[in-house]
Amino acid sequence: MKLFRLFFVVFLTPVLLFSSVTLLEKAQLQKGELHLLFNKAYSKSHIKHFTLNNPYREVFDLKNVRLADRKIGHMLHTAHCRSIRVSQYQRNTVRIVIETGKRYMCTAYQPLFSYNSYNIPLPKFTVTHTKRVAKHQDIQKRIARYIKDTKKKVSAVYNRPAKTHKKNRRSFSKAVNAHEMIVIDAGHGGHDTGAITGGKKEKDLVLQIAKRLERQLKKRGYRVSMTRRTDRFLKLPQRTQIADRKGAKVFVSIHANSVPKRKRRYVQGVETFFLQTTRDAKSQRIAARENKAVLKGAGNRLSKKVIIDSVLTGPKIVQSNKLAIDVQRRIMTNLHMYYRGVKDGGVRHAPFWVLVGASRPSILVEVGYISHPRERKRLFTPKYQELIAKGIAEGIDNYLNNRRKEIDID
Ligand SMILES: [Zn+2]
Repeated sequence: MKLFRLFFVVFLTPVLLFSSVTLLEKAQLQKGELHLLFNKAYSKSHIKHFTLNNPYREVFDLKNVRLADRKIGHMLHTAHCRSIRVSQYQRNTVRIVIETGKRYMCTAYQPLFSYNSYNIPLPKFTVTHTKRVAKHQDIQKRIARYIKDTKKKVSAVYNRPAKTHKKNRRSFSKAVNAHEMIVIDAGHGGHDTGAITGGKKEKDLVLQIAKRLERQLKKRGYRVSMTRRTDRFLKLPQRTQIADRKGAKVFVSIHANSVPKRKRRYVQGVETFFLQTTRDAKSQRIAARENKAVLKGAGNRLSKKVIIDSVLTGPKIVQSNKLAIDVQRRIMTNLHMYYRGVKDGGVRHAPFWVLVGASRPSILVEVGYISHPRERKRLFTPKYQELIAKGIAEGIDNYLNNRRKEIDID
């Protein structure tokens, strides 16, 4: 122990203090430019700038730089670019790709006396498919408005004088919930094991959590139907058909995630998805893994794309997104009460097959990474499972309560 401490002081401290890697702390749009902010002085001589064609892209490789946070540079949208992507391209290289489809004079510069920032001007012309970008921005705006409204409503409830008896309120909401059907889908089953790591199978984990969620929802007065309650295989379309037959208000599919061995120690956390096509490479990878069961079957790529496109109607995406936000937030709140360091992977969209054809707000919860040693251990404990189930139930409850109010107002 002493020796270890000595090693830490003598060797590691200088490494930490004089670590040569620069962190990229911010990447944001400002007055028609992409503004980068580093944690310390960073010489522009370390930046390799070049262009690629078909489609036209301005590429910046920032050597000896790491992203301070995985979320940096997410959600950068402007009508002047098809996309702006910021990624950890290599261990110590951050890559920025600005896709415009059309050549423009891009003279990036380091502002005077500002050694820790770097500005990349964006084109002035508007790119052709602004429609999609505009639609995306519209959805983002509506989500932001929804979050604001929810916060207002929550604070209104908390600030209300405590005259009404809590018990009465609860039994009232229980009576309202009694009419609503929730369909829970435990992912995989039978020969389709889902992810396997350390001898543990995704199909078993998600069934355990699904059963806990069923109890949590029934406690709140909901009617619940499960796509499976035993270890059996179901085709993906069968799962949403059950939701249709039961006239479900909400469809929630439960899965667990996993990554290849070399990433096992790093990737962990909870993520909630709703159905939407996406360019996000990570979401696409996860969707590809979860979609395997259906992609093995018949049908050509084109027809699948047509189905996906046909279900991407506005309101349903917005509702699914709202549901996903509520569920993700409640899961994290519950887990963080007892477990430190559980990563919030946030709400994402991905083309999941199990959500296609669902004609109601539908989400897919990836409850954690069974490939991560610590997270796997936690995921298979009753307490952790119960917190997840409670979080999902609270999220659904919250979403439906808000939905009822919206309809009342309309
Ligand atoms: Zn799965």
